[in-house]
Amino acid sequence: MSLDHKNFETQAVRTQTDKTQFLEHSTPMYLTSGFVFEDSEEMRAAFAEEKERNLYSRFSNPNTTEFVDKICALEGAEDGYAFATGMAAVFSTFAALLDAGDHIVSARSIFGSTHTLFTKYFPKWNIETSYFKVDEIEKIESLIQPNTKIIYAESPTNPGVDVLDLERLGKIAKKHNLLLIIDNCFATPYLQNPIKFGADLVIHSATKLIDGQGRVLGGVTVGKKELIREIYLFSRNTGPALSPFNAWVLSKSLETLAVRVDRHCENALRLAEFLEAHPKVNWVKYPFLKSHPQYEVAKKQMKLGGNIVAFEVKGGVEAGKMFFDSIKMCSLSANLGDTRTIVTHPASTTHSKLEAEDKLAVGITDGMVRCSVGLEHVDDVIDDINQALEKL
Ligand SMILES: *Cc1c(COP(=O)(O)O)cnc(C)c1O
Repeated sequence: MSLDHKNFETQAVRTQTDKTQFLEHSTPMYLTSGFVFEDSEEMRAAFAEEKERNLYSRFSNPNTTEFVDKICALEGAEDGYAFATGMAAVFSTFAALLDAGDHIVSARSIFGSTHTLFTKYFPKWNIETSYFKVDEIEKIESLIQPNTKIIYAESPTNPGVDVLDLERLGKIAKKHNLLLIIDNCFATPYLQNPIKFGADLVIHSATKLIDGQGRVLGGVTVGKKELIREIYLFSRNTGPALSPFNAWVLSKSLETLAVRVDRHCENALRLAEFLEAHPKVNWVKYPFLKSHPQYEVAKKQMKLGGNIVAFEVKGGVEAGKMFFDSIKMCSLSANLGDTRTIVTHPASTTHSKLEAEDKLAVGITDGMVRCSVGLEHVDDVIDDINQALEKL
């Protein structure tokens, strides 16, 4: 069901799979691997794609279709495909669009597993990647080669919370006739729509704020119809599809995305302001703090600052360890975008495999803490972090 010209919240709540004869108000779960046909002619026509209909849940399912339709409405995209995880979305998108010998220009600060794809696996197929630092967008053009096909970036970045100017990236991609692909996971479709700034495809790990409650894994790629067609054909044969159960959960989650993310951002800003004034903290990075190096860009392209706050405790590794061991309420976990506030030490966990030089290049220092601010009362989050800082 399409709801043209409706507001974000309405699209997120009201985009729905067509009702069955039972007239359910809430979309039911379609836990079925296959779908039946009236006769051989109908089956032939379905396989020949002469008629749009569900055939087999690796290809499509009413629950995954509803989820994808919603993300398309919220991102302003033409079409999409849903994946079992965010990494399945990242891998399948590249694998569907690239040929052996192609070249990628990517931001240096990207999700750890994406970095591993670029450095360890794509070279197996002679696909090489050149990197630019998040604050050196002007160097991108010098990295472009005759075989370059894709410019890739995330904004805000993980874990450094850097912000990249999407409009500038869009212009460079257009000028050189390259595809711009943006991992929009940290912003969610509620805070930022990269397609407006020239992105051809947008990828989400739905595991994070889209689920928002730490329950299921999921991913999605949306964007230009002809590109999604390639991604769909690749995926329907290789099998990274999202399960109908997880699609149902994620589609329900989208109904509350706007109110959840509003509160996440309000809490994160409060925590960031508190930390900025704390004597045991060296620096704080949050896109909507005036001290953020790309504050103006963040204000231009984001509705609010997101839920991730990065900061550095004074005293290096030892202080970092003491801080984490003193935390009482917040969770020590690798996930993010949950209702529960999570603190992570990137240097010893998610980014521990990076060389020292690469860590510094993406802004990871030994005392750096990444905090995914949740939906507890913000005073309780601040109290917990404060008591841990007081122990340093
Ligand atoms: C978590 C994450 C991914 C991968 O998503 P999974 O659902 O864990 O596979 C990709 N990109 C970013 C920015 C992420 O935070």
